[in-house]
Amino acid sequence: MKTGRIAALLLLAGLAGPAMAAQCEAEIEANDAIQFNKKSIEVPKDCKKFTLKLKHTGKLPKASMGHNWVVSKTADVQGVANDGIAAGLDKEYLKPGDARVLAHTKVIGGGESDSVTFDTGWLKPDGDYTYFCSFPGHSTAMRGKLTLGK
Ligand code: ZN
Repeated sequence: MKTGRIAALLLLAGLAGPAMAAQCEAEIEANDAIQFNKKSIEVPKDCKKFTLKLKHTGKLPKASMGHNWVVSKTADVQGVANDGIAAGLDKEYLKPGDARVLAHTKVIGGGESDSVTFDTGWLKPDGDYTYFCSFPGHSTAMRGKLTLGK
């Protein structure tokens, strides 16, 4: 009986833990093989702000294998990526002032990292958001879904 109660208490504590401390941050890695290491990232619904850390685990410089982390509505990805290529590396491969870009890091090279903290007000439960790398030629392979947790 006694062991049963302790086990129940431990179980309750374990369940309460994650709910009380929402992780309003995530880390994603990018490599020299034009890949992100995550296919999706969920933002807990209690997070008013969210921090994304991008880490480039490769060795190649940003001029040839640069990566950034850009979020837009899924329907806008192609347009944002195309305009970003035209804007060039100086502009982080994003058109300056592009309102379709909801959040983004800068472009980094191998061994570097960058992070961005953004307000989550635009993130709707029924919205369709994609994160991707806007470096020329990367947006097809390097992309995933950003979702709002329940
Ligand atoms: Zn990239």
